[in-house]
Amino acid sequence: MLKVLTAAVLALVVAAPATAQRLSDTVVPEHYTLWFAPDLEKETFRGRETIQAVVTQPTSSVTLHAAEIQFGEVKITSGGRTQTARVTMDPKAETATFTVPQRLAEGPVTIEVVYTGILNDKLRGFYISKANGRKYAVTQMEATDARRAFPSFDEPAFKATFDISMTVASADTAISNGRPLSDTPGPEPGTHTITYSRTPKMSTYLVAMIVGDFVCRDGASDGTTIRICSTPDKQQLTTFALEAAEHQLKWYNDYFGIKYPFGKLDIIAVPDFAAGAMENAGAITFRERLLLIDPERSSVGVRKQVASIISHEIAHQWFGNLVTMKWWDDIWLNEGFATWMANKPLAEWKPEWRVELDDTEDTQGALGIDALRSTRAIRTKVVTNEEINEVFDGIAYEKSAAVLRMIESYVGPESFRKAISSYLTKFSYSNAAGEDFWTEIARVTGRPVDRIMRSYVDQPGAPVLTVRNTCVAGASEISVAQSRFSTSPDPTAARQTWTLPACFKTTTGQPRCEVIDRAEQTSKAAGCDNVFANADARGYYFTEYAPDAARALGKSAGGLKPVERISLISDEWWMVRAGRHDIDVFLDIAANMAGDDTPAVVEALANRLTFTANNIVDAGQQERFQRWIRDRFGPALATLAIPGNLRDSDDLQTRRAALLMLVGVVGNDPEWQRRARDLAFGYVKDPNSLPPSLASTVLQVAAVSGDRTLYDQYVAQLAKLGSQPEEYYRFFNALSWFRDPAIVKAALELAVSPTVRTQDTGTLIAGFIGRPWARATAWEFTKAQWKALIDKLGVFQGIPTIVTSLGGLCTASQAADVRQFFAKNPVASVERGLQQAIERAEQCTAVDLRQSPALAAWLGRV
Ligand SMILES: [Zn+2]
Repeated sequence: MLKVLTAAVLALVVAAPATAQRLSDTVVPEHYTLWFAPDLEKETFRGRETIQAVVTQPTSSVTLHAAEIQFGEVKITSGGRTQTARVTMDPKAETATFTVPQRLAEGPVTIEVVYTGILNDKLRGFYISKANGRKYAVTQMEATDARRAFPSFDEPAFKATFDISMTVASADTAISNGRPLSDTPGPEPGTHTITYSRTPKMSTYLVAMIVGDFVCRDGASDGTTIRICSTPDKQQLTTFALEAAEHQLKWYNDYFGIKYPFGKLDIIAVPDFAAGAMENAGAITFRERLLLIDPERSSVGVRKQVASIISHEIAHQWFGNLVTMKWWDDIWLNEGFATWMANKPLAEWKPEWRVELDDTEDTQGALGIDALRSTRAIRTKVVTNEEINEVFDGIAYEKSAAVLRMIESYVGPESFRKAISSYLTKFSYSNAAGEDFWTEIARVTGRPVDRIMRSYVDQPGAPVLTVRNTCVAGASEISVAQSRFSTSPDPTAARQTWTLPACFKTTTGQPRCEVIDRAEQTSKAAGCDNVFANADARGYYFTEYAPDAARALGKSAGGLKPVERISLISDEWWMVRAGRHDIDVFLDIAANMAGDDTPAVVEALANRLTFTANNIVDAGQQERFQRWIRDRFGPALATLAIPGNLRDSDDLQTRRAALLMLVGVVGNDPEWQRRARDLAFGYVKDPNSLPPSLASTVLQVAAVSGDRTLYDQYVAQLAKLGSQPEEYYRFFNALSWFRDPAIVKAALELAVSPTVRTQDTGTLIAGFIGRPWARATAWEFTKAQWKALIDKLGVFQGIPTIVTSLGGLCTASQAADVRQFFAKNPVASVERGLQQAIERAEQCTAVDLRQSPALAAWLGRV
């Protein structure tokens, strides 16, 4: 699964209701035969199910999962005798128990169930989606919602095969995991019944059903049929996704040395979707805007995002679907791997995208969570559904992926590939735990991967390497000390160390990598100039240089690769956040890199300077800070000819966008804001007036000083652009940039109105909580609307996005208010996210206090 906003995370687990219990293995399923007849008008469905299972110890009852299911007759046959079972439900545990008068002996057993269920509006289990004046029925089973569609042994280790059939309206189609074997009219008038081929052995959370008037574009790769499906109005937006999927499937077949295991591959865009995408075996589902684009009119950022998410989901067909984690505590075996793999086929397909820069920023995102005391270890014990759903976070995805990149770089890509292939072969159609993985990788590569992985998977946080070098006989002698990094250190915490490969280089010499496993040790590098401590930026650690050494690296940054420059900017920024260095060192480095021609480097600077402007710069210093931004970055922007030509390179367009954002918003430049407004009005009239990679930024910068007329134009566009997701979200995402207080209020009301899809409500509110000028208003609004929000969104989507965004608040009183509010209104599905948000808000307050004097002194000098 891919979450839209990977929520932040924590170890301070507030007592969650531990109602969920693991099923026993007294009865083990082997095969399900499932029939569904959804009634879209009534928003219900009928189901019939036969489960073939094995009784491992004699028993008179069978307990499995079921939620919001109305049972009809339940019969159990064993040893040639059929008994009718009594059904008892435990709604809290989401289980049903079938009890029979005569004990079931060891051996095969057949369970037959007739039941009905509901097509809910909470985007989970089997649910209703609406678009184009009609309804659709769609599934999202991961993590614990297959039980809402069919009574099942709904845990990942209970793998089974599935025969699925569906009866739907004659005019509709239905898609499932298998390929259609037969399609016959009836049984009722106005319906047809489609039967699908048997699936390979797989977990219940991978079952999929998608019902409606979907149309598909056909393709193929390496002998496998691939289809990209959408509602009929969007079929012209499916060519790019098909091209990407065709390239990737063949690439993965070659990489793994194991052919795609699920027969055909359908990829379906559904109108309402809680996650970003879901890797159901052979039937991947997507949010529309993450799949359907017009390649001629899309920004490079969106093209990359779409290709990367498709790649993530296809990688899951091996990592997750073929080999599945034994239990959700090892969800990183699914998500970390799919995240790590996703950019690999892209690097070959579109080398000009330079996806390694995105990987480096992702690593920094994960380190940002690990800088909190409230982070969690990659492997964290989970019991309840709420706990299970909350571990789909930046630790499972981006941190695990970053650790894998580090290991791959350490053992070498080809050696790592062989080991991965060996692991997947060994556990095909089965389940594995973390140990199974690293034992196999260590065996095949002959390197101590097990020690490194154990230190990263089972302990929370990440190390900071404190690096000091001295010149001895023409070479650098580097003393390295490691400890846990935290932006809010806890002096009473136990000392932690990691086993990690670290790579040092001087700005003129070759990198030298070695395993660091002690609290203090000494290393070497050729040459005596500045030592950079994370060559190729593949290491998952923070680096603390001496302030003067960091400044010197900033001055000679031209000798570093772009990924290393991002790493340097980030490392120095973390020193600011932790109060280890004064902010002037970072700002000097930023000044030195202002003319950098790699867009990702400018974006890395822009993000941190935005935080500085929003949270550290005091009211009295704003004028001066904004002027500094304009003086430093304005000249580079002025030379780039905004808006430029539609055919300009992606890099040039992206650099324009990053600089325009920095000068227009952080620099608060009235002239650039006026130009952006003119361009935005022009864009509303003619979408070809702006290059695609610049359009979003122009709309956002324009909104900052935009009035009601501009806002009304944006909202009017939303109504017109229902069939063009990328264009729609350009306007939608710009709404949270309006600064006018009356517009902020209007847009917040819009977020909870029926005009905005449930899947987007949280994003819009969170957007405002992220803006310094709107955050207080947006937080008050959130509190006032809380009950309505929970009713509208449920607790698993939207709400986590909003709670996570509260980390953008930056006063002690707001942090305390958040704590108080959720003490009265607890949400079990986002306990860790809440703790992290509170810690971020408190930490922000501390940074402001700590760095304000240093900032004032620095502003006095520049
Ligand atoms: Zn995923």
